[in-house]
Amino acid sequence: MITISHVNKWYGPTFQALKDCTTHVGKGEVVVVCGPSGSGKSTLIKCVNALEPIQGGEIIINGTKVNDPKTDLPKLRSHVGMVFQHFELFPHLKIIDNLCLAQEKVLGRKRSEAMERARVLLERVGLKSQAQKFPGQLSGGQQQRVAIARALAMDPIAMLFDEPTSALDPEMINEVLDVMVQLAHEGMTMMVVTHEMGFARKVADRVIFMDQGEIVEDANKDDFFGKPRSDRAQQFLSKIL
Ligand code: ATP
Ligand code: MG
Repeated sequence: MITISHVNKWYGPTFQALKDCTTHVGKGEVVVVCGPSGSGKSTLIKCVNALEPIQGGEIIINGTKVNDPKTDLPKLRSHVGMVFQHFELFPHLKIIDNLCLAQEKVLGRKRSEAMERARVLLERVGLKSQAQKFPGQLSGGQQQRVAIARALAMDPIAMLFDEPTSALDPEMINEVLDVMVQLAHEGMTMMVVTHEMGFARKVADRVIFMDQGEIVEDANKDDFFGKPRSDRAQQFLSKIL
């Protein structure tokens, strides 16, 4: 589904943020990406969606080469859901309209069809009763669940998450993780940057550990938590577990 091969990325002429990164996320797989601050996790996720260009290697999503000038990037991005740390909802639009906008503008769905899809998804994330509110009237956890529902409204083939719970108060983290666990169980292909190792243990198929722009470890979950091969991953785990 997502193939990342020998990806190199520089910010400016001198700083290399990704160094020969190679991995694969199969259909229905959940891959958790972790590692210290500045290791390149967000950069990797952004490159997958071509929000950042790469200078070497290639990334292929479902047969489409991301870093090809001929690729229709808006179209590609409309098929790959992305959820960030900060919810980035449209503040001036009601929740229901946040969910409908791209369905109508990008997918060309009729208002009634978009509304129906939005209602189903709001119910699924437990926010049916909030449809007429504005984002500012919701808690952080609720806003993040809206952001997930909005991404799902586009019927994505995969979902990318970048620390979706790290800006939330502790009591709201689980309500967001629960939605993500449910998604994972439904077979969604997911690439998730997170330090929530409980989530990783519960649903990850594999865990990638990054340090200084390199994928240092790419292991199945049991191997990773059982005994990471590298010292760097062991040290990281000993700090966060
Ligand atoms: P964190 O856990 O703090 O979110 P991260 O693993 O997501 O960190 P990135 O945001 O990918 O790390 O950053 C990787 C490196 O690239 C860092 O050294 C960062 O300072 C640098 N970097 C990130 N974005 C840019 C940019 N737009 N321009 C220049 N350097 C950048
Ligand atoms: Mg980051």
